[in-house]
Amino acid sequence: MQALRPSPFPSTAVATATTLVLALALTGCGGSDPVEPAAADTACRVSTSSGGSVTVGSGVAGDPALPEPSSGFRLGGAAVRSGQYMVVTANPLASKAGCEVLRQGGSAADAAVAVQMVLGLVEPQSSGLGGGTFALHYRAATRTLQSYDGRETAPAAATENDLRWISATQQTLPLPSARASGRSIGTPGTVSMLKLMHDDHGRLAWSANFADAVALARNGFAISGRLADAIVLNRDNLLRDPDAVAYFLNPDLSPRALGTRLVNEPYAQTLSAIAADSRAFYSGPIAEDIVQEIRRTAAGPAATSGAVLTPGVTTVADLAAYTSVRREPVCIAYRSTEVCGMGPPSSGGIAVAQTLGILQNFDLAAQRPTAVDLYGGRPTVMGVHLISEAQRLAYADRNQYVADTDFVPLPGSGVASLLDAGYLRQRAGLISMTRSLGTAAPGAIAGAAPATSSSNEGRGTTHVSIIDAAGNVVVMTTTIESSMGSYRFVRGFLLNNELTDFSPTPSDLSGPVANRVQPNKRPRSSMAPTIVFQRPAGGPRGEVLMATGSPGGAAIIQFVTKTVVGVVDWGLDAQQATSLMNFGAANSPTTGLGGEHPNLNVANNGNDDSLVTGLRALGHTVSVAAQSSGVSTIVRRTDTTGRRFLEGGADPRREGLVLGDAAP
Ligand code: GLU
Repeated sequence: MQALRPSPFPSTAVATATTLVLALALTGCGGSDPVEPAAADTACRVSTSSGGSVTVGSGVAGDPALPEPSSGFRLGGAAVRSGQYMVVTANPLASKAGCEVLRQGGSAADAAVAVQMVLGLVEPQSSGLGGGTFALHYRAATRTLQSYDGRETAPAAATENDLRWISATQQTLPLPSARASGRSIGTPGTVSMLKLMHDDHGRLAWSANFADAVALARNGFAISGRLADAIVLNRDNLLRDPDAVAYFLNPDLSPRALGTRLVNEPYAQTLSAIAADSRAFYSGPIAEDIVQEIRRTAAGPAATSGAVLTPGVTTVADLAAYTSVRREPVCIAYRSTEVCGMGPPSSGGIAVAQTLGILQNFDLAAQRPTAVDLYGGRPTVMGVHLISEAQRLAYADRNQYVADTDFVPLPGSGVASLLDAGYLRQRAGLISMTRSLGTAAPGAIAGAAPATSSSNEGRGTTHVSIIDAAGNVVVMTTTIESSMGSYRFVRGFLLNNELTDFSPTPSDLSGPVANRVQPNKRPRSSMAPTIVFQRPAGGPRGEVLMATGSPGGAAIIQFVTKTVVGVVDWGLDAQQATSLMNFGAANSPTTGLGGEHPNLNVANNGNDDSLVTGLRALGHTVSVAAQSSGVSTIVRRTDTTGRRFLEGGADPRREGLVLGDAAP
């Protein structure tokens, strides 16, 4: 471990941090153009069309942190290259914080802490201290892969009817809704998980990774397009929380607009306390305030609907008892790679692996998209058919079998049975080349507990991919579940509504639901942070090829699958695979094609687009609704001279940014 440094941004980086603060103070949402001092090196900067480079957050023309209205799909943007290290997040200021840590010699685990603390400020609708996180960490020196489970947890006093009934004697929905009541709020795991991963793999002192976020919270940042949209979307629910009203709304209760400078002193203070001692989150005044908020019974004076709040049952003992867990990653051999992901309580790793294991039985390379451009070209009808059919089969098993394995074991011999090559070959045999399965049945696995399991996951999540100069990798998907979680704002951060990822009904006709609420249980997730390794000539695990992941609720499984197939089977670069049209299916007759993509013609409900009509001819019910993925991808390449470099892609559907050191 490197000693704690008094300033996290020594030497050249001090100028950068100062520029950031001054520029925001001077320009607010970018009214004037301060002149940027020339930078000697281009690390952690963004190149401009004139051949120069710009500091992220500087406020000068070309600064990707200048707030812009959100768009469905940002056009332009090729893959970004770097030599040694790279970070991809969904927000420029978060990428910048992570990149500066990497530039100072911090590890991927250090950068993950810095990134999360900034994301909790600038993208609070998606993740933060009040939520939960899954991460995979690869340590290059020892070639060890570890996954970390910082999932939110149900309180010890939870009962299986908490999400559908106020009480046994009052069998009506919690008020004002399960999500906005205290019942949805799980004990947050993000701080604990980051600390555990940092204890294992940090190089800088824990506290050194907080300074950028603390400074940004104190000095202010400009509301981005997506945050502005989230405030508008969630305004009426935020009205129930006086702290949220004060922070996100104007005095006349209108939403604070794009570009407004937000200062969050309570967040700065919370971060300072956690930086000094991570346990400050789980006991003492912060924990007490979290519990008080979860148990609140009445909305604040601004509320225009739902004045009564059904309290949650969380106690300070639940926070004190929270532990994040090191777990075995879930891996499968796929073509000449090995794909590794997050196991239960996430279903993401198993479902992605099953999908790929089924696809292994088909020649997917022959189904490369046509007219490949910056956005990955146009997927073929048969490519989408095969992948979405494989997904139907994988989701069928997921829905039936996967929940928190500390409570409900997987069928058969667990992951080994679900990923068995023979089993997946047999599942692949169910796919017809001429007709969609519509809805697939789960596989019959010896010893399977007949426990169906369902849940709806929301859209308040974000994904971070990081590779440091030593080759260590962090992929981290981090969430407060739905956009703005439970709408409860405590000490500068939002609390999650992750417990709505449980099934609200504890049993159905076939018996107890695997994903029902139980005390101290973790709700099933779909989050799928993924690392792909080379596996030359079918041998053992080789070098890291790729790091990726996405938000998107249950569709995360589809977003990750398409990105991995894009790189591994179709030879797309990191940006093309990330931008590639989103497509796939959960286990229903509907196959989604992301209507936000420039290469899909959504006019006339897609009836003028041959991809849509081709799939409909195979019996798919095609939806062309827009899909809001947030894929962050890094691919490791070797050029023709044998020199290695990193290639990054940020999802054009969000506000993300790739940053790293100079390209070789
Ligand atoms: N809560 C969801 C899960 O854990 C993620 C929601 C999202 O991606 O926005 O799977």
